[in-house]
Order: sequence, then structure tokens, then C-alpha cells
Amino acid sequence: MTSRSDTAHRKVLIAGASIAGPTLAYWLHRYGFAVTVVEKAHAPRGGGYPIDVRGTAIEVVRGMGVLPRLRAAQIDTARFTFLDADGAEVATLHPHAVAGSVEGQDLEVARGDLTAALYGTVRDDVEFVFDDSIDRLDQHGNGVDVTFRSGKQRTFDAVVGADGMHSGTRKVLFGPEEQFHRYLGYAFAVFTMPNILGLSRELMMWNTPGRAAALYATGDATDDLHAFLNFHQPEQPLDVVRESLRDPGVQRDLVARTYTGAGWEVASIVEAMHQADDLFFDTAGQIRMPGWSSGRVAFVGDAAYAPSFLTGQGSSLALVGAYMLARSLATHGDHVDAFAAYERDTREFVTMNQALVDKGGARLFPTTAEALERRNAMLRETVAMPATTPQPAHSALVLPEPAPTA
Ligand SMILES: Cc1cc2nc3c(=O)[nH]c(=O)nc-3n(C[C@H](O)[C@H](O)[C@H](O)COP(=O)(O)OP(=O)(O)OC[C@H]3O[C@@H](n4cnc5c(N)ncnc54)[C@H](O)[C@@H]3O)c2cc1C
Repeated sequence: MTSRSDTAHRKVLIAGASIAGPTLAYWLHRYGFAVTVVEKAHAPRGGGYPIDVRGTAIEVVRGMGVLPRLRAAQIDTARFTFLDADGAEVATLHPHAVAGSVEGQDLEVARGDLTAALYGTVRDDVEFVFDDSIDRLDQHGNGVDVTFRSGKQRTFDAVVGADGMHSGTRKVLFGPEEQFHRYLGYAFAVFTMPNILGLSRELMMWNTPGRAAALYATGDATDDLHAFLNFHQPEQPLDVVRESLRDPGVQRDLVARTYTGAGWEVASIVEAMHQADDLFFDTAGQIRMPGWSSGRVAFVGDAAYAPSFLTGQGSSLALVGAYMLARSLATHGDHVDAFAAYERDTREFVTMNQALVDKGGARLFPTTAEALERRNAMLRETVAMPATTPQPAHSALVLPEPAPTA
């Protein structure tokens, strides 16, 4: 066991100030580490789509004291309505029945509200450096010499990449993402658009084989909608994903081509995508690394084990992973032992949640007419049996008590 006086002189650099980054910063600060967070954006990114915090991850935010704030910010969605090719109703369900969440315990909040709450717990206690990122890492016996994009150079005892699925820190250390990326067969576009249907606290999802269009009203009929277009792409559209070709024009064209001739309100949604100034386009995939660290550098959250939106568990893994990593660093004097313990104690939980895509996590997005018919039958059955079963993977890790702080 290390004491607070042991950790105080240990300097940790975290890349990324979204969900995993501030959570790790909070717990490391609480354990007495000197923490710096570098974020490539100008400020913590606000706004964004709704995300879930479930199971074990609820205990992490409870421990950080932000659970009441998150409960107050909770999105209270009344129903999910599934539509067929012509826009006719297939089934209407309670959201928990679809997600396997536990009513009254699990949370759904706007991503920006979660990020703001986490950042708020630690913003005055640790150093945040915005508008910068890691360019180079040189490890040696006494630490890691870090060269930042700004040209500044500093030395830390350990570095953690919490910089998301397309982690630049991981690239600096291990090279291209392709080696760790498991493509799941879909590409998607998310953006906000005017509330053309006057929807209020509900989600509507239209499907044909291989194509989905969803409108999510997280507020009232006067608030904007979150639009989500998710479609099957058997081959990964690499030219769209590669950094050099991440051209919103190419992305918009691909989406528009895919949804040509689609029924319901899809033409209006595609039109809104062309007007949107917050388009987020990506492919659905997971990050699977054989090891989450090398020397003094470790990874957490999506950077190490993105499970994809198909599981709805990315934020929860980021929260739990950050907690476990901080605790391991606080209880082991040596970074090698700490990183090994973090991985040993967390990997099974990660694996179970990543496996949700193999156990039907993608069932909401069937790619053939037969699979769509099966899904629709399953949804109708679920309406008839409204009792929901919590998903065991969400709570598969019993969170250990925080490490002693003195
Ligand atoms: C459409 C969609 C829907 C989703 N729905 C859900 C859901 O329902 N439930 C759920 O749990 N999860 C969901 N997720 C996933 C969730 O958003 C992520 O899993 C979660 O945000 C991961 O957090 P993170 O902190 O690890 O990484 P991120 O949130 O990706 O944050 C990475 C941070 O690092 C910064 N950064 C990037 N590169 C660098 C760099 N080189 N240097 C410094 N900083 C850098 C970024 O600006 C960002 O602030 C969804 C994701 C998408 C795209």
C-alpha cells in the first residue's frame, strides 16, 4: 500500500478531458497525485447526444458526489416508437425495455451534461491545458519526456491516454489504429435538426434492412431533435474514415446516396443533415488492445476499449475504467504493478460489455428483411411482456472501495 506522501510527488499527465479523463483526474487528485490534463479542444466539449450511465458506473459517479446533479439532468424519455418502411408503427416500448437499463437507478443524460459535471468536480484542483496534445513520448528510467504539439516539453512519471476511440496518444505509442480496430459493419451520422414533428421526450426509429433513421426528442416540442442515421456498410468505408479524407462533403454524399428513395420523413432528415453545423460521422467499431499499457503509458476509456454505441456502454466503461486505474495507481508504488492490476481487475468487465454486440447488441439495426422481421416480432413480444430484465454485463464488476487517502 502506498501512502499519500508517496503519491504526492508522482506527476501524471492525462490526454483527453471528456469522460474518462476528468474521472481519472478526480480520483488521482483525491489520492494525492499531481495531475495535468491536456485536451486538444479549446474547452470541454458541450452538447451532444444522450448517453447512458448504468450499473457499476453509477457507483463511480456516486463516489464523486455528482449523482444528484446527474439525476436532476436526467432525460426522461416516455417511449421509443419503431416504424416500418412507410412510417407505420411496428411497436411502442418503454426505453428501459429496449436498453436493458434499470428504471430508477440507471441514468440517461446529455453527453455535455455528464462531461460538465465531471469536469466541475476537478477543474479547480488539477491543471488543465486546452488546445494542445501529445506529439512525442520518450520513456526512460525516471519518467516520460513529453513533447506537446505546442512545442512545450515536460516530464511526467506516467502518462494516460483518455483521448477517445481515435486516440492520438495511442498512435504516438503503438502506431495506426487499424491494428486495434474491430469494424462492426455500420457507418452513422449524428446531428441536431429542427423539431419537424413536434416530438417531446420520445424517440422514433424507422428501419428498412440495413438502414435506420432515428429522431430523438430529449426535450419539449420546441427543442431541436437529435437525428441519427445508421446504415450497414459491409466493407469499412476507409476513405471516409482516414484522417486525410475526413471530409464532411464526402460523408454527406455517402449518407445521402444510402438513403435515396427512403420513406417516412427520411428525405427531410437527410436535407437537415446538409444544413447541420454539428455533423458527427463515424463507423461503428470497437477498440481491442492485447494490453492496455506499455512502460509508463496506459490507456483508459474508448482509447483502450471502445465498445461502440451498439452496446450503449462506452461512458460506463470509461467511468469504471478510470476509477479502477486511479485506484491501482494509488495502491501500487510501481507503475508496472499498478497498470497490471488495473488490467487484471477490469478486463473481464470490459470483455463482457464489448461482447454485447455479439449477443444481439446490433439487433436494433437488422441488415436483412428476415432479421428485421425477427426484430419486429421480438419488439411486439416485448410490448406484451413489459417486465424488463437488467443486463448482467452492466453490473458485472463490484466496485472495490476507494483506496485510503491518508
Ligand atoms: C452516436 C453515439 C452514441 C453513443 N451512445 C452511448 C450511450 O448511449 N451510452 C454510452 O455509455 N456511450 C455511448 N456512446 C459512447 C460514448 O460517447 C463514449 O464511449 C465515451 O464518450 C467515451 O469517453 P472517453 O472519455 O473515453 O472518450 P471521448 O468521449 O471520445 O473523449 C476523448 C477526449 O479526448 C480529446 N482528444 C482527442 N484526441 C486528443 C489528443 N490527441 N490529445 C488530447 N485530447 C484529445 C477529445 O477532444 C475528447 O474530449 C455513444 C457514442 C456515439 C458516437
